Amino acid sequence: MLKSKASCLCGAVGITATEINPKFTVCHCDSCRGWGGAPFFAVQCGSNVSIDGAEKVKIYDSSDWASGGFCGDCGTHLFFKFKQSGDYNIPVGIFQDLNGLEMDMQYFSDQRPDYYCFSNQTKEMTKAEIMAHFAESI
Ligand SMILES: [Zn+2]
Ligand SMILES: [Zn+2]
Repeated sequence: MLKSKASCLCGAVGITATEINPKFTVCHCDSCRGWGGAPFFAVQCGSNVSIDGAEKVKIYDSSDWASGGFCGDCGTHLFFKFKQSGDYNIPVGIFQDLNGLEMDMQYFSDQRPDYYCFSNQTKEMTKAEIMAHFAESI
């Protein structure tokens, strides 16, 4: 587990995460690409996350099971939060000093458009595989 601080571009919001999984996931789903304009490089940070400047955070209720948070001043995407577990997925790029990261998994590989492809050797899961995998926990 890694520990690090993140912040938005304008500095109004700061995030401290102490249980960061160094093996991170890239999500190619339509929702993630629509939100950020690109695949979501998401590090799993668990629920033990503290947010400074939380009053600046705007929440977008993206689905029954998760919501997205972004800075209301500068628009930086801050997190994707799962409602049931309270776990946060945070964009890897907003952390200042994360070392030892490994791109481990690509989700929704069947929704990845054909205009890009990463050369990293990773595991991949299609939508059908993801639904089957998480069916028990939802
Ligand atoms: Zn900001
Ligand atoms: Zn996604």
